[in-house]
Amino acid sequence: MCGIIGYTGKKSAVPILLDGLRALEYRGYDSAGVAVFTGEHITTVKAKGRIDAVDEIIKKDHSELFSTCGIGHTRWATHGEPSDRNSHPHGTDSLMIVHNGIIENYMVLKERLVKEGYEFLSETDTESAAKLIDLYYKKLGDPMKAIASAVSELVGSFAIGVVFRDIPGKIYAVRRDNPLIVAVSDEGNFIASDIPAILKHTKKYYQLGEGDIALIEENGVSFFGANGDKKEYELLEVKWSFDAAEKGGFDHFMLKEIHEEPKSVEKTIHTRLVDGLPVFGIPTLDSEKISKIKKIHMVACGSAMHAAMVGRQMIEKMARIPVSVEIASEFRYNDPIIDKDDLVLLITQSGETADTLAALRLAKKLGVYTLSIVNVVGSSIARESDGVFYTWAGPEIAVATTKGYTVQMATLFLFAFRFAQAKGFITDDTTKELSTCLAGEVPAAIEKAISMVDTAKKIAEYCKDHEHVFYIGRGIDYALAVEASLKLKEISYIHAEAYAAGELKHGTISLVTDGVPVFAIATNRAMYEKMISNIREVKSRGAHVILVCASDFPAAPDLYDDLIIVPDVPETFAAFPTITILQMVAYYTAVSLGCDVDKPRNLAKSVTVE
Ligand code: GLU
Repeated sequence: MCGIIGYTGKKSAVPILLDGLRALEYRGYDSAGVAVFTGEHITTVKAKGRIDAVDEIIKKDHSELFSTCGIGHTRWATHGEPSDRNSHPHGTDSLMIVHNGIIENYMVLKERLVKEGYEFLSETDTESAAKLIDLYYKKLGDPMKAIASAVSELVGSFAIGVVFRDIPGKIYAVRRDNPLIVAVSDEGNFIASDIPAILKHTKKYYQLGEGDIALIEENGVSFFGANGDKKEYELLEVKWSFDAAEKGGFDHFMLKEIHEEPKSVEKTIHTRLVDGLPVFGIPTLDSEKISKIKKIHMVACGSAMHAAMVGRQMIEKMARIPVSVEIASEFRYNDPIIDKDDLVLLITQSGETADTLAALRLAKKLGVYTLSIVNVVGSSIARESDGVFYTWAGPEIAVATTKGYTVQMATLFLFAFRFAQAKGFITDDTTKELSTCLAGEVPAAIEKAISMVDTAKKIAEYCKDHEHVFYIGRGIDYALAVEASLKLKEISYIHAEAYAAGELKHGTISLVTDGVPVFAIATNRAMYEKMISNIREVKSRGAHVILVCASDFPAAPDLYDDLIIVPDVPETFAAFPTITILQMVAYYTAVSLGCDVDKPRNLAKSVTVE
């Protein structure tokens, strides 16, 4: 995953690089480092740990360090443990590189490079790429050709920034399957893995094309294909402000992002309604196309996959189209059975998730129509799929997704309505009614859930002292249980498991002992009776039941220990306030345990490695 930054311009580079890296820290925080031009040399400072560790070393040992050009990196280790020596930048006495991605053939390259006389100092795959570029630079004497030749031999995915000692003030960059933007301003130019890194300085940027090479100079940027031909790109402009990527008075990004859910849903859905009816603005997905879809394969990872689980319930129920939910990293190796009239629907917040991107490419190869739900405009998956539906959640910085998940879920509800309408299962009036509710009453209900801070804190206080927590539910409530349990375990490190309520007794009910918290999610009226039986099953084994239900649930006082009444909203939409309140419980549990909520250990956002 990793975050890359590079700057060349009129200003002092080190603070710009460190600041940029801080904005990219959500991508990984195992180690950090910078390499900057200092006179005849390139000075490299790197260390295990967060950006602050590098900042400290610079203040202590390099207080005079001044440069107007350099590159930086924050790492999520894939090859080689997090350590000082595995930190990026890596290089030789003539160049340094920063890398996001994985070089799959690094061992073969390493063997060859060792024979050429290169000495390896780290366990990373990155070092092979650095030395290969060096080898070609020494042979060919031309930076562009050296990068192109080296890259043609790399197997894997990468976004790489390079500085050559004898070409001061210039940064070269190349990418394949990993994101990289090139941003421009009057005061200097940048490379970065993502927009937040450059937002303090500029809103104007280019997306570096697949396999292309960029040259970044103080006064301008230029782009080349692998064969050296010059290329022109469209200049893009970021639509959100710097504040959107700041905490804005909240203790954590996660809490801020939960608070942004109502607006994000409203914006994503409202803008797609014309006279109350959903209009996607995707010309390739008209009513005729929709009515021909035989099966939908939803492909995603992590929380996006959990949103797909909710979407599946809605689409199957309303539009009667069979849906399968596939884990992206499995899909591509499972030799999927796909008909030409199927739809492959990719769901990803960043639009750069490596496994989802690989699944998209496989689907395209199989000749099926591909549609993506993506939050980041211009990202690889958005560009490469046949149709794209953007969610308008704005930047999501906390590693654990909240608003990103909620808008994916809202989008899939809208898809269900639109598909059902196109297939003639619901009238225009019903479609209108449902869609306007999604754009209006749903954000209002989420808002009410957000205000239930005391309830969330009280339950968090109980959960924080337990080793295991269970979540049970049926139908959509089960899909929510899966996401809620992920939220709790990823940020609080408490073991949490979700079970379809009827399934727990076939599985780990043996772990349900005295006082073990069990969240019973029961928002589906048709399932009330069944849920009551399942709750009784755990209650009689001593569980501490936290009942999460609508106000009309017939809850006898001996059925639960804690009660969360989900804010009122039409039953179809109960998922929204329900997941928000469960996200808040997870948040306050992690806070009361003193966990690093926004940057949980070992995790990173935007998983750009397979
Ligand atoms: N493979 C490189 C390393 O382990 C980069 C990792 C990444 O992009 O996540 O250092």
